[in-house]
Order: sequence, then C-alpha cells, then structure tokens
Amino acid sequence: MACRRALRAHSQSRQLSIVHNHIFRLIKDAGSSARTFHSQRTLANKCQFGFLFDIDGVIVRGRKPLPLAKDAFQLLTENGKFKVPTLFVTNAGNSLRTRKAQQLSEWLGIEVSEDQVVMSHSPLKMFRQFHDKHVLVNGQGPIKEIAHNIGFTRVTTTEELAHRFPDLDKMDHQRKKAAPCAFEEYFPKLEAVILFGEPVRWEGPLQLIIDVLLTSGKPSDDVSEIPYPHIPVMACNMDLLWMSEHKIPRLGHGCFMNALEGLYQKITGKELKYTALIGKPSEITYHHADYLLTQQAKMMGVQHIRRIYCVGDNPTTDIYGGNLYNRYLQRRKSSNNGQVQTKKVRVASHRADAEFLDEASDDDDDDLDMSEFDSAANIRVIKSLEEDTLGVEKASSCETILVCTGVFRESTDFVSFAGSRISNHNHRDFVIDPMLTHPNHVVPNVLEAVKLVFEKETFA
Ligand SMILES: [Mg+2]
Repeated sequence: MACRRALRAHSQSRQLSIVHNHIFRLIKDAGSSARTFHSQRTLANKCQFGFLFDIDGVIVRGRKPLPLAKDAFQLLTENGKFKVPTLFVTNAGNSLRTRKAQQLSEWLGIEVSEDQVVMSHSPLKMFRQFHDKHVLVNGQGPIKEIAHNIGFTRVTTTEELAHRFPDLDKMDHQRKKAAPCAFEEYFPKLEAVILFGEPVRWEGPLQLIIDVLLTSGKPSDDVSEIPYPHIPVMACNMDLLWMSEHKIPRLGHGCFMNALEGLYQKITGKELKYTALIGKPSEITYHHADYLLTQQAKMMGVQHIRRIYCVGDNPTTDIYGGNLYNRYLQRRKSSNNGQVQTKKVRVASHRADAEFLDEASDDDDDDLDMSEFDSAANIRVIKSLEEDTLGVEKASSCETILVCTGVFRESTDFVSFAGSRISNHNHRDFVIDPMLTHPNHVVPNVLEAVKLVFEKETFA
C-alpha cells in the first residue's frame, strides 16, 4: 500500500515537472502569438466554436471589473450582439441568473442575457428525479426562489426549519424561544438536502443539517440508531477558496462543506457522502454548458459547435473541468465511431459508493462500472441529457486557457501551486489526475485569451 502510494507520488511529481516546463513554454508562446494576432474571417463568416468564461478572477475581482475585460468582449460582439456563442460559467450560487446577467452587462457594457449564465446550481435543473421531493436548502440570498426557478416544488430553507423547530438551534443563547410550532407533527419529512452555498452564519445550519441527516428528514424525532446511508445530499460549488479584491483568497463553500463533513464524521463515525457534486470542475456542469452553447449557436444559424474554449483563472476548477470534459469528448468520439457510448468510458469526476446509489437507480451493471468514480445521480442525468439530445452533436473538443489575473498568476511557481492545490484545494471526493490541471494555453488576461482563439480560428 505504502509502496503504491510512493509510486503514485513519484509519478505525480514527474507529471508536475513536465507540466511545469510546458507551462513556461506556453506563457512565452502566448505572448508572441498575441503580438502576431491578425484578423481573418472564415469563409462562411460564422464560427464553429464557443467560449465558456469563468467570471471571478477573469472578468472581475470582487465587484471591480478587470482592466481589459471590456475590450475582450468588444471583440466578441458586433452592434451590441454576440457574434460568437458565449456562456459565463461561474461557481457562484447565491444569486439568480438574471441578477448575474445584469451585473455582467454593467461590468462589460454589453447586453448579457440570463440564458448565457450558468451558475453552479444550474445543472440541478436536470436532476428531475428530485424536483417533487421535499428538500432542505442552505445558502444565502434568494435560495428559495432559485430552487423554485430550477424546478423544485417543495422547498424549506434552514431558516424556515429553525423557525418551525425552535428547539434545534441552541447556538445563540440569546435566541428567544419561538412560539410552539403547531405544525410540527404535520411537517412533511425532508427527503434531500441541497447545499447552494455558504450561509452567512454557519453554526445554526450545521446543527440543523446534521439533525436532518441523523433523523432521515424528521428533525423532531428521537434517534435510536444512525440511519446510513443518510438521505441524499447534493452540493453546488465545492470551491475551497475564491478570489475577491483582497490579495489572499477567501474561504468558499468548500470550507462549509468541509466543516459539515468533519462534524458528521466526528458525531456518527461515518462518512458524509454526496449524491451529486455540481459546479466546476464537475463533468455534469460541462455537459449542461455544451448543451446551452449549442442552443445559442443554433440561434446564430450555426448547427454545431466544434470546439469549446474554457477561459479561467483556476487550474483546479476551470482548467481541470474543461480538460475532464475534453477527455470525455475524445473517448466518446473514439468509441463506436462517435455513436452515443458513455458506458465504461466515463471519466472520473468524483467517487460515490454503491450504497449511496439511491432508489431511483435502475441502471444496469455497466453503469455500476461507470459509477466507480462518478455519482449515480450524475450518471443518470448525463444519460438522460444524452437521450434528450440524441441526434444533437456534441462538441469535438474542449481546450483550456488559463489567465493570470486571478488565483493563478504568471509569477506563481506552477509545481508548488498545483501540488498544494491538488492535495488541499479540491474536494475530498474528487479523484485528481494532475495532468488535468494542465492548461492548453496560458495568457496574461482575458483579452489575450480572446485574441488567441480568434487567431487559432482565423476569425475576427
Ligand atoms: Mg475564477
């Protein structure tokens, strides 16, 4: 075991050293390719490529737009309209897509529609098997409205739960006991928990979510033995850290998840397992984005998006996720001459144990092979999406472009950066292949990223 671990560590450090050398070559190349940029239209004057832009650290830092962001999007638009299919894919999850689209419009001085925004929770739209279940949602901002907009019909927030069951949250000693809850016995069992993002205060929600897991959704019940597996938990945005105006990254939702997992394990002696982990770098987010990009392209008169370019500032989310999806596309393409073949070629995104395959799982044995590294719910959603869009071609490839205006900076030593992030930053349940943090291109900023793609695509 120790030997295998040592071998793995050796192989990872070798891979990282290759990555390191390549990264510096890419940074050098990017500078020269940007300088030699020239415009040339395609014959059909239509593009067969699209962009997925991360927001924090690429377009803005906190609430301040980055200096060249506006210029980049001037290149992507003509008479105020996008001439290249473009999506903004963010791991933020505590606001509505409409609000994010408004912010982007203000920051960039162009009209961005809500259809162009993918929030970390957006793929939950596809988890239809949970839409009619009574779900507990946690986060801040308009999360109830967000859950309803996604398709959930029976939603209770942790604040509402605390109000219903005033005896649960005893963290605030000054809290006055609310009126006895007349509806307690009629409170329908909670069937799933959705973690949208970090709440403002953590202690109360941590207590309530653990109560719900220990009681299988009936928080006023007594517990004679710990139910396991616990009820489904789905989490959006597993970023441990994120970049705001401040120089040092801020604690993200991944930290809240980490706290919840730690407490659950300490109390029960068992591991908290997720039914679904969504948001970047989860593969499901990219399936969703590819589908939306194709819809957008069709409205522009382009039938297929051939190449997707993912622009981001974080090797372990934006770059990892884009490369993971590209690996899926390549294997899909090579299997059975491009027919829809997802079984046994699923690329690892995160692990799930067989006992957490929920009751809706009617997948056959082949799917269990697939679920070695992916969650049952994610697999079913990907399958259903592929069935829904059967005949709709997916992209042929997905390239990743790392910008140096956010989490990763040009002066950063990539080996120590990636090395530390691989071990510390990514979520516990993600199986990390260090090579997937390796971008296809590294550029100084988002403007250079757009120029680079235009040059590659001979498009202007
Ligand atoms: Mg970012």
